[in-house]
Amino acid sequence: MTPSSKRSTRAFRTPTRRAILPSSRRAWERLSAEIHSCRKCPLGSLRTHAVVYRGSLSPRVVFIGEAPGAEEDRAGIPFVGRSGRELDRALGALGLSDTEFGVLNVLKCRPPQNRFDRSAARTCRPYLDRQLALLRPMVVVTLGAHALSAVDPSAPPVLEAAGRARTAGPIAHFPLIHPAAALRSRRWRERWETDLNALARFLADHAA
Ligand code: URA
Repeated sequence: MTPSSKRSTRAFRTPTRRAILPSSRRAWERLSAEIHSCRKCPLGSLRTHAVVYRGSLSPRVVFIGEAPGAEEDRAGIPFVGRSGRELDRALGALGLSDTEFGVLNVLKCRPPQNRFDRSAARTCRPYLDRQLALLRPMVVVTLGAHALSAVDPSAPPVLEAAGRARTAGPIAHFPLIHPAAALRSRRWRERWETDLNALARFLADHAA
């Protein structure tokens, strides 16, 4: 058992959900515009669209993926391809309503060959931090190894960390494997489902 698994998940704070303040909404719109015009790394000139966010602006849970793929790059919306359909199935199974969750990526622009770009991730990181500071979710759910190490560099490897809540600053953190893995093999599908059940229990224990 790792130290993180021994920690009581009941320790996490459940802030009262509140409507987004007009000032925060303006800050969110400014931030989104900044991301849409960003050229701080080479990915900025390769993209069709920057991919900022989809979901509620006062979410309980924020899901963090790795980077937009081809379909996300075309649509300008995160998780609209095959992985997105799997994620949407999971959101339905978790019983999260549209007002309760949001979805974003560590990288806001598609990397060539869909290869995660660590250097671009360092450049992009302040956008993620600013998004989370404005959204203030109760828990962030990282999807896959790259999202896990970007959000929580001291976390153990994803297969060790997935399925259990961790603390990463003031926001609880619940790692999962990437939904694309669940589409790849029966073994990973079983792991995905098991960890989603654990997330469902965590959310039920920390209902707002
Ligand atoms: N995979 C991700 O990590 N993010 C997306 O938006 C789509 C696929």
